[in-house]
Amino acid sequence: MQFNEFGLDKRLLSAIEHMGFEQATQIQHQAIPAAMSGHDLIASSKTGSGKTLAYLLPAMQRLIKNRPLAKRDPRVVILTPTRELAKQVFAQLRLLTSGTQFKSVLILGGENFNDQVKVLEKDPQFIVATPGRLADHLSQGHFYLNGLELLILDEADRMLDLGFSKQLAQINKAADHRKRQTLMFSATLDHAQVNDFALELLNKPKRIAIGHAHSEHKDINKRFYLCDHLDHKQALLEHFLSAEDYQQMIIFTATRSDTERLSKALSAQGLSTVALSGDLNQSQRNQIMDGFSKGQQKILITTDLASRGLDLTNVSHVINFDLPKHSEEFVHRIGRTGRAGSKGDAISFVGPKDWWSFKNIEAFLQQNFSFEQVEGLKAKFKGLKPKKAAISDKKQTGAKKKPVKKKTGQGRKASNKTFHFAEDAGDMPVLRRKGGLQEHEDNEES
Ligand code: ADP
Ligand code: MG
Repeated sequence: MQFNEFGLDKRLLSAIEHMGFEQATQIQHQAIPAAMSGHDLIASSKTGSGKTLAYLLPAMQRLIKNRPLAKRDPRVVILTPTRELAKQVFAQLRLLTSGTQFKSVLILGGENFNDQVKVLEKDPQFIVATPGRLADHLSQGHFYLNGLELLILDEADRMLDLGFSKQLAQINKAADHRKRQTLMFSATLDHAQVNDFALELLNKPKRIAIGHAHSEHKDINKRFYLCDHLDHKQALLEHFLSAEDYQQMIIFTATRSDTERLSKALSAQGLSTVALSGDLNQSQRNQIMDGFSKGQQKILITTDLASRGLDLTNVSHVINFDLPKHSEEFVHRIGRTGRAGSKGDAISFVGPKDWWSFKNIEAFLQQNFSFEQVEGLKAKFKGLKPKKAAISDKKQTGAKKKPVKKKTGQGRKASNKTFHFAEDAGDMPVLRRKGGLQEHEDNEES
């Protein structure tokens, strides 16, 4: 479907033309008309399939077409789990608002609070934000949401994982009126907790799912390699860095300290690398992402901080030096490549510590992967047997029940998908637990 068939305002059509797009992607084809007709949406489609415009265009259209409900309140709030993603969404939004009178602001954790108070006083129609900081401003009465027309949650499931449910509920409550429309987008929205939360926030939502989270992303070539230990992983990495023909590469590690260690090791070999971690302040993080997106370095080493949403066109390879704990994050990590129809390679290392994550990923994607080998770097490790606990559990209950497929590997304790309360304490949300603040698991040493 062509963009000019949606009945969009001509200023939007000319902005799209400027971006060089003619045909809507599948998710845009379905979500744009549904959102324009006023429905709440739970929409999912694979990574890199154009979800951002699928919500920005109907949001813009609604603002152009309708009179505001309140004079001063923001009309659209877009929330994302990370600051980098918020910045990227903001940049796309700016391309659309440039020919209009609408003001938009970016409100992120880690940036100057008082400066944000000043921009909020200018009564912007659009706010793009991370939830923690926005909720702080809301609590302090720096803006009100009685006139909010659209609440958009990009990567909604990740915000819940990170512990932002309290802030989302607070924002939801402040904008609780009949005329509000709510849109939820992600590549992975089909787990029960998201559903429960969606039922609270959304009003008779329409569900749009282009494929399933587990359906294969054909543009991404997935390869798995068994590894014995850290040095083995390092040797394999060095092999791929010289054997693969890559444009840019993102290497994901489990922890911040692994990110730093690898970055030092690769830089010492003269490779063009940069490391992004939640330890850095926001201006350092901005600098790193700007530089990498301009191609100033070939390799970005990071944690799940960069797994969601980032649209970096020259990333041809993703390497999972460690596998993520949550299977959804695997889908998002490898989705940093193979975007908008281009091809990508995703190489994953599976050592003993990664084994149950690997099994979870297989279950989540409903696929069995075979392992490839590199001559001279074959692993002795062949995988782990299910732990006895799971077997005796089964015996005790006498149940023939299959293990819960989505989240658990056999014999492994279920990955923790209960949502926590958190606050954005600068870099990444911090969980509030008994005994004070605790770093979120994605930043924990494992
Ligand atoms: P997602 O949120 O689904 O991961 P994005 O919204 O980040 O995907 O879009 C991925 C890339 O596709 C971006 O570079 C975007 O500019 C581009 N894109 C979006 N819509 C279209 C379209 N209709 N045709 C071609 N490319 C598009
Ligand atoms: Mg996205």
